[in-house]
Amino acid sequence: MSKPVAWGAALVAAAILLAACAAPTRPTGKPIVVATFTVIADIAANVAGDRLHVESITKAGAEIHGYEPTPGDIRRAAGAALVVNNGLGVDAWFDRFTADLHAPRVTLSDGVAPVPISSGAYAGKPNPHAWMSPRAAEVYVDNLRRAYTAIDPAGADQYRANADSYKARLRAVRDELAADLRTVPADKRALVTCEGAFSYLTRDTGLGEKYIWPVNAEQQATPRQMASAIDFVRDRAIPAVFCESTVSNKPMRQIAKASGARLAGTLYVDSLSTADGPVPTYLDLIRHDARTIAAGLTGSAAR
Ligand SMILES: [Zn+2]
Repeated sequence: MSKPVAWGAALVAAAILLAACAAPTRPTGKPIVVATFTVIADIAANVAGDRLHVESITKAGAEIHGYEPTPGDIRRAAGAALVVNNGLGVDAWFDRFTADLHAPRVTLSDGVAPVPISSGAYAGKPNPHAWMSPRAAEVYVDNLRRAYTAIDPAGADQYRANADSYKARLRAVRDELAADLRTVPADKRALVTCEGAFSYLTRDTGLGEKYIWPVNAEQQATPRQMASAIDFVRDRAIPAVFCESTVSNKPMRQIAKASGARLAGTLYVDSLSTADGPVPTYLDLIRHDARTIAAGLTGSAAR
């Protein structure tokens, strides 16, 4: 497989050359921070405040696990003051393309205690969706504050203040999440979803977890995965199942039909919505998911 490697290297070299020729456009006049996906870009923007301009490489609604960066993406990263990624494998695609770049980079999940994936081809590897725990997101905030201070020491006090106030908001949303999910009766406390992306959220809130496929990199529902999910829902008489915004809900519709459960809404994990959608920010995402899950499992209407 030497051709793709050579092509990748040529692409990076060309992008760096282009970046060197034409200075990156900075309409705001602020240093540019490039993040791999919208969820972490929003967290990064909150810690940056008005000192840095944060952009996401992938757009709202994108499937992020198997994303293929474009030459334009590489050009943006080459001109950035800082490159931000999640790590734990979810945005491994970006490693290949930033390996030769000079921009400093920060991996936000560094320091988070990982939850291992329990089954499938990725069994034993860390589950990458650590941001689904607002508690773990505080580690993301600390990593951002340190990285920003390193590239812009004059902003140290501002970044600390931004980080402190955002952490207070993370704690408030964490309390809301716990309160919403406490309303679910003990025998219905299981979250059934398309992707196994909720392991950190279910760990924090004491919910059981069942999913069709472990990570979106697999994204194929085998007959065995389908049967296992149907049995799980039937055996426990779970009233509601869910699917995520970035994948097809067709297999989950089949599971709902076969088990008698209701497909009770769309959850957001790997991407925010656009600004006029239901989850334009990370805090909205956690709030929306907590309310949708609680409403589905208690049979009440979502607030
Ligand atoms: Zn995912």
